[in-house]
Amino acid sequence: MLFSNVVFYYDLKFQTKHLMSDAIIAVNSLTRGMVDVKSMKIKARDWVDSIFNQYALTDEEKIKKDCALYFKLTGFADEPEVYLRSADEGLELGYEATQWNGPIAAPFPGVYKKHSLSWETLHSLDKKEQQELVLDLLMKTINFRKRQYRKCQFCGEKVGTEHRFDQNTCHGCASEHFGVVY
Ligand SMILES: [Zn+2]
Repeated sequence: MLFSNVVFYYDLKFQTKHLMSDAIIAVNSLTRGMVDVKSMKIKARDWVDSIFNQYALTDEEKIKKDCALYFKLTGFADEPEVYLRSADEGLELGYEATQWNGPIAAPFPGVYKKHSLSWETLHSLDKKEQQELVLDLLMKTINFRKRQYRKCQFCGEKVGTEHRFDQNTCHGCASEHFGVVY
């Protein structure tokens, strides 16, 4: 009785495994974009949790000294980072990207602040609410940064706006195909 149960179990498991792998392949190809978005949110939530475990985000003096933190968009294009840092007015979220300004185009680091959260607002919320709000603003910053990326028409790489010649061409391919000299 026990033996036949075991055989039945393995047989069922074998069949199920095949059905499952087919289903998983189908689901994977359909929802890859959604899964990426979901896992980015999970990673962002873990990151915010770990920050709140390390820092008292309402302790302005402490956090001003300690906090300039970067969240990497792992698995996305060249894996850009967004930052969370403290300032006199409150927390700031944004990203850093090379700028190509000036009469002779030369790169220099640019800081782009996208969102801020005043100390006053933070103090008025409990820890859970603070965490949700920081996560919400972090996701908005991440999604803004992601939307700046486009696939290059020549090399097919996803390239940030600061490394593109135009909407569809990266700097490298613009040199190669259009003869643009930097
Ligand atoms: Zn390219």
